[in-house]
Amino acid sequence: MAQHVLVTGGAGYIGAHACKVLKAAGFVPVTFDNISTGWEEAVKFGPLVRGDLMNRPEIDAALALYKPVAVMHFAALSLVGESMKDPATYWRVNVNGALNLLEATVAAGIRNFVFSSTCATYGDQDGVLLDEGTPQRPINAYGGSKLAIEEMVRNFGPAHGLNSVIFRYFNVAGADPEAEVGEQHTPETHLIPLMLDAVAGKRPALTVFGTDYDTRDGTCVRDYVHVMDLVDAHVLGLKWLLKGGESRVFCLGTGNGFSVREVIEASRTVTNRDVPVVFGDRRAGDAVTLVSGSEAAIRDLGWNPARSTLRDMIGDAWRWAQAEPFQR
Ligand code: UDP
Repeated sequence: MAQHVLVTGGAGYIGAHACKVLKAAGFVPVTFDNISTGWEEAVKFGPLVRGDLMNRPEIDAALALYKPVAVMHFAALSLVGESMKDPATYWRVNVNGALNLLEATVAAGIRNFVFSSTCATYGDQDGVLLDEGTPQRPINAYGGSKLAIEEMVRNFGPAHGLNSVIFRYFNVAGADPEAEVGEQHTPETHLIPLMLDAVAGKRPALTVFGTDYDTRDGTCVRDYVHVMDLVDAHVLGLKWLLKGGESRVFCLGTGNGFSVREVIEASRTVTNRDVPVVFGDRRAGDAVTLVSGSEAAIRDLGWNPARSTLRDMIGDAWRWAQAEPFQR
């Protein structure tokens, strides 16, 4: 019988793509989601449990029903700017939700846990290439809440025999090339979908947040990873745990940093259309540069982030934007 995997946040952007590749790898992805920011239509690859991580009995019931071999924890509030305006909600939802999930996981006898963390746990490190050994000093509540969850996951290892793979994502972008699922947030805050909305005339312009950063062109630098490459790493991490691999942390980035202006330039080439742009102030909580300096996932998991070129990420996001996006 196929092995089940509980995917919290399986109706969200990254979780839905993870469900697609889990199914393709022979697993049954069971989405656990409260559909607060995700989309019911995105749950196409396995069953949906509508539940809330703040409600422990709902988690217990899902684990008892499906008896998953592992939990993949994507569900979270994940917007840097919002986390600076309402830190309490970020700490409460992200940390309490993860704690409930961890307690339910070990109570159900599940020993394998894959967690979505973030390069936002590093904070601003002045151009340093970030790897698994870089000290974590978050500068926003989103990154702080994710770091707290990392610590909890690590503590549950020796205490409860929970084996974990923690992935620290850099900037996730792109969409399923088959456009079954894609990136859609309400409100949208991410660079590439906002830019493509401006290209398509759905918004008047893209606002570039800050042009006076100490970077090659004054705009922030990020390391963009294709969502399909990112979720491939999750399947590799899951297989690593199921084969008895030790608990690990892996950065998921390519080592290539692109500025906001460079992303805009690449979009012009890919879409063959102009990007209407206005230049605005810095956004609170933004680090100047976040670029991965790690090859551990490539070396130890056999990860191959071959689709993580700006051309493929923007091209797939553009195709998705022109398909049928989900409706509220
Ligand atoms: N950004 C921007 N305009 C926007 C949205 C984002 O200039 O409308 C910039 C943002 O300041 C950051 C980069 O694009 O430097 C990526 O931001 P995003 O919100 O996509 O991801 P984050 O880095 O916050 O996870």
